Amino acid sequence: MAIPTTDEIRSRAAAALAACGADLDALTARQPGPAGSLPLRSPIDGGTFGQLPADSPDDIDATLDAAQQAFLAWRRVPAPERGQLVARWGRLLAEHKADLATLVTIEAGKTPSEAAGEVQEMIDICEFALGQSRQLYGRTMPSERPGHRLMETWHPLGVVGVISAFNFPVAVYSWNTALALVCGNAVVWKPSEKTLLSSLAADALLARAAREVGAPEGLNSVIAAGADGGRLLVDDPRVALLSATGSVRMGRAVGPRVAERFGKVLLELGGNNAAVVAPSADLELALRGVVFAAAGTAGQRCTTLRRLIVHKDISAELTDRIVAAYGTLGIGAPEQKGVLVGPLIDENSHQAMQNALKAAVEQGGEVLCGGSRVLADEAPDAWYVEPAVVRMPGQTEIVREETFAPILYVVEYEDLDEAIALNNEVPQGLSSAIFTSDLAEAERFIEGSDCGITNVNIGTSGAEIGGAFGGEKETGGGRESGSDAWRAYMRRATNTVNYSGELPLAQGVEFL
Ligand code: NAD
Repeated sequence: MAIPTTDEIRSRAAAALAACGADLDALTARQPGPAGSLPLRSPIDGGTFGQLPADSPDDIDATLDAAQQAFLAWRRVPAPERGQLVARWGRLLAEHKADLATLVTIEAGKTPSEAAGEVQEMIDICEFALGQSRQLYGRTMPSERPGHRLMETWHPLGVVGVISAFNFPVAVYSWNTALALVCGNAVVWKPSEKTLLSSLAADALLARAAREVGAPEGLNSVIAAGADGGRLLVDDPRVALLSATGSVRMGRAVGPRVAERFGKVLLELGGNNAAVVAPSADLELALRGVVFAAAGTAGQRCTTLRRLIVHKDISAELTDRIVAAYGTLGIGAPEQKGVLVGPLIDENSHQAMQNALKAAVEQGGEVLCGGSRVLADEAPDAWYVEPAVVRMPGQTEIVREETFAPILYVVEYEDLDEAIALNNEVPQGLSSAIFTSDLAEAERFIEGSDCGITNVNIGTSGAEIGGAFGGEKETGGGRESGSDAWRAYMRRATNTVNYSGELPLAQGVEFL
């Protein structure tokens, strides 16, 4: 299948970026400062189509100052009025859905359908946040003292720092940003250095919405930097909440440093997600759920299905059908017709996949299909692979790790308690699923899984924004997006109001 040239990719990126309000030529023509520059690269052909000057520590300092000033004004704007900013942003995102999706495809390698789905999530969270802007509810509690009111009120935090990963270059940021803004905060975003244009486009649309509704300047900004720039957000006391999405390794570096300065932290880290397929499952449905969750996005979702825990009586049949389905998956440049599996992000990712497959075989695994590099002649600098299915004798060491590539490990079980124990037996705790038509089994799995997400008759990936998203254990414990995730972006104050004209002390204490 034809791979577009670097020039073609650059001109498509420039057009999409221009439509969103940013000029690629002007951006790349700027002289790099003391922080040097960052390459603009597409995994589709592996070519570099420009360099963007990186923000220096002084630039980042100035950005944080501006955000702090903007916050002081924004916090005074009534929340429903703040909601108008995300409402406008959502409309602009809907207008520019195709442009932003094009940039996501170019930088993250997603198929147009998945890239459009990612932008749709941004639109959805803007709608959700607009509604939330009228629902920042506190409670009132009965006071033990006469003539007293006891209640809680919720207040903005300050500057929210967002660090995001390459594989969801815009959606995860928007979950954080839409809620943080209606909650009265300013947002400084350090996107993945691999997806800078998608972030500049999303930010340009937000900046336009902010101008149109008269929000203070500096309320939203992007930092173009690698991990070094991220570290400055981690250590800066002006960042009241740091929301960081990425690998467990990143979370281990970031979490303790924010805690050391008593900042708030919200971590969304790696997953190692399992699906149990019970004998009563609708196998056709399970097959589709498994194949999308395991091979979709070339295995590069935090919720990608990595472990299939299948009952021994149906294991042979299901694995045969999965292997057959894998044989039909179109692999190639994501915007080509019929392609369902795009490229890996880079060579490191390919190497990690090969290392994992080698380790799996050494640990007793049998590769049932996939694992090979494809399209190497047409795109020598890009990394396309056949998604792999590996039958394992058990959950060996490699199965307990997250390898961010399309490898599906298959292990068998005999009874449901064993399957639940296998599901829980890894350090990560993001997403889990069971395929069954037995109600009691479904309920036992929901009760038994230790993950932040537990699905029935749906794969592990593809969450909706209405629920709280996040996971337990090494996944970091954070919750974003729907339900009551907004609370992470606010400070709760407990207020006691005395209208009795006397001063009774709590617990009947006497003094003076
Ligand atoms: P990564 O950890 O390499 O980078 C993520 C972000 O952290 C980037 O912006 C990077 O510049 C920054 N960073 C890295 N080290 C840092 C440090 N020490 N201090 C400050 N910032 C630092 O991850 P990636 O390769 O971009 O993304 C893939 C990983 O992200 C996978 O593990 C995946 O499971 C995870 N992920 C999790 C979720 C979730 O919601 N749980 C969502 C998407 C991705």
